[in-house]
Amino acid sequence: MNFLHLLARNRLALAGLIVMLLIVLLALITPLLPLADPDVTNTAERFKRPFEDNAMLGTDHLGRDLLSRLLWGGRLSLAVGFASALIAAVIGATIGIVAGFYGGRTDNVIMRGVDMLMAFPYILLALAIVAALGPGLINALIAVAAVNIPFFARNIRGVTVSIAHREFVDAARLSGMSDARIILTEVLPNVIPVIVIAMSTTVGWMILETAGLSFLGLGSQPPQADLGSMLGEARSALITNPHTSIVPGAMILVIVMAINLLGDGVRDALDPRLRSGALSRPMPNTLVRRKDPVPETKTDALLELNGLKTQFHSNGRIHKAVGGVGLCVEAGECVGIIGESGSGKSVTALSVMGLVASPPGVITAGAVHFAGQELLGAPYETLRRLRGDRVAYIFQDPQATLHPLYTVGRQLVEAIRAHHPTSRANAHERAVELLRSVRIPNAEMRIDSYPHEMSGGMRQRVGIAMALANDPDLIIADEPTTALDVTVQAQILSLLSDLQRERGLAIIFITHDFGVVAQLCNRVAVMYAGRIVEEGPTDAILNSPAHPYTARLMACVPELGRGRRELAAIPGLPPVLDMLPQGCAFADRCHRVQDACRTGNISLSAIDDERAVRCIFPETPAMDKAQ
Ligand code: ADP
Ligand code: MG
Repeated sequence: MNFLHLLARNRLALAGLIVMLLIVLLALITPLLPLADPDVTNTAERFKRPFEDNAMLGTDHLGRDLLSRLLWGGRLSLAVGFASALIAAVIGATIGIVAGFYGGRTDNVIMRGVDMLMAFPYILLALAIVAALGPGLINALIAVAAVNIPFFARNIRGVTVSIAHREFVDAARLSGMSDARIILTEVLPNVIPVIVIAMSTTVGWMILETAGLSFLGLGSQPPQADLGSMLGEARSALITNPHTSIVPGAMILVIVMAINLLGDGVRDALDPRLRSGALSRPMPNTLVRRKDPVPETKTDALLELNGLKTQFHSNGRIHKAVGGVGLCVEAGECVGIIGESGSGKSVTALSVMGLVASPPGVITAGAVHFAGQELLGAPYETLRRLRGDRVAYIFQDPQATLHPLYTVGRQLVEAIRAHHPTSRANAHERAVELLRSVRIPNAEMRIDSYPHEMSGGMRQRVGIAMALANDPDLIIADEPTTALDVTVQAQILSLLSDLQRERGLAIIFITHDFGVVAQLCNRVAVMYAGRIVEEGPTDAILNSPAHPYTARLMACVPELGRGRRELAAIPGLPPVLDMLPQGCAFADRCHRVQDACRTGNISLSAIDDERAVRCIFPETPAMDKAQ
């Protein structure tokens, strides 16, 4: 269903599908239609024009009804085209899978054979095969299938090679499955989408090739009609009676166009990467569609988020990833955002600079002020100038954020020159300086390393250096230490903390680890299901968490040197974001829940002049001690 849905979004593919369905339907009902016999000649009735007498599309040079020949011929052409595509796909895929799965010498022998076939020009090879087998439709079919086998074999081999050494195939081997079974149950299902895609994009070609052979008189033999032979026979009357060529020519055009459009659509719809992006390129900024009036800025903080709501609209569902987040970051301050995975931390961070992919992302309410300037809905050029220059990001996985084919130096130089055009030499010097400032030993040498030549910790240092490249005012670090081991994590944290003090940086530090927050952040905001549930100075929250969620979250963290204690995992799961419950989203998992928690909107209210909590029955310090 999902597949058809996606296909239907692509208008051209949908048109192709409809035309193809009509043509196939016509081909299927041809024997039932009251048509003249396609092969009976009647020279008295030669070259009738379309709509003359009873002949709707006219007659050809032997007086045969063109409509009848067109339908019967189209039927034959389609059948031959699809049959040869199927044969080529089955044989080609089998060859590809065997070569890719077994590899080594088997692969070498098979693929060199395939290469030899590929070395001949396509149509020449087909001609040679038909010449050897003798003319005839079946032989044309064999020839067209044969010349397309290498195409399938190459494609499928490539995919199989990448699958054959994956862990799930190894696991199947370990469980004692035979090779044949592994191929059928593990490899084949992963390869089938590629086969379907390759077929859908080549059927059109095969119909054309068959028509080409028939046109040359090597395919269907008179009096039997197919589209190619109709075109071939009409050749001599091309000028005097053009309708005899136009009729089959137009049919070939329509069929091949429809199949190709449909094939493109199928390819796009089957590509999983395109599924969530809904077949359209993301826009440079997140889409902003606010109905309510835009909130005014209330403070003169460096960054102020106000009632920010970011949703994902896909397949008719609305995922409320961020449901009204307010947050202030002063210059030089480090604010932590903490919460379970999926609580909306990353989406909040990305919304600040309009980096959430649209579609499906939409910002539906709120405002983001950076240094007094409203960013939501700001023109692309404004955001582009701020991105990486005044506001920089550090992401979780440095391996994925660094370009694998460029040296880190080149990438740093690029980051610098994107905002501050300067000579390469200057930028290079600055890059070395940056690497030194993030404590990379031997920076002059290391600058010429590729990302894969560095350790995870070093790569993340490079990521931090890139964020620092233009001396930003604010760094948004999205779980920068989650992918690193504990010792490296400690180094990175102390580095960030030093940099923050030296340069007066403001940092938003996203994490799910209270230990990290304690070490680095002045203030912390706890997020749950897209909203902030508690906010305040780090020490105060760590000493006496007010929201039950914060308390439970802290109880999950093991403490070193405090002896054994039971770790209390939070029971249940976070709510589904497209069906948030009324009232408190944490109610179902909360140990203090009461009926009042499940109704109305619970607001974030101040409990002293620095702290706020979104809970009507917060934990009290006295209770905390009693536990
Ligand atoms: P985290 O707090 O772990 O960083 P995220 O901010 O990445 O969580 O995600 C918040 C929610 O938004 C999650 O439920 C996630 O499934 C959803 N989400 C994130 N990106 C997309 C997307 N492109 N399409 C649909 N939903 C998304
Ligand atoms: Mg995240």
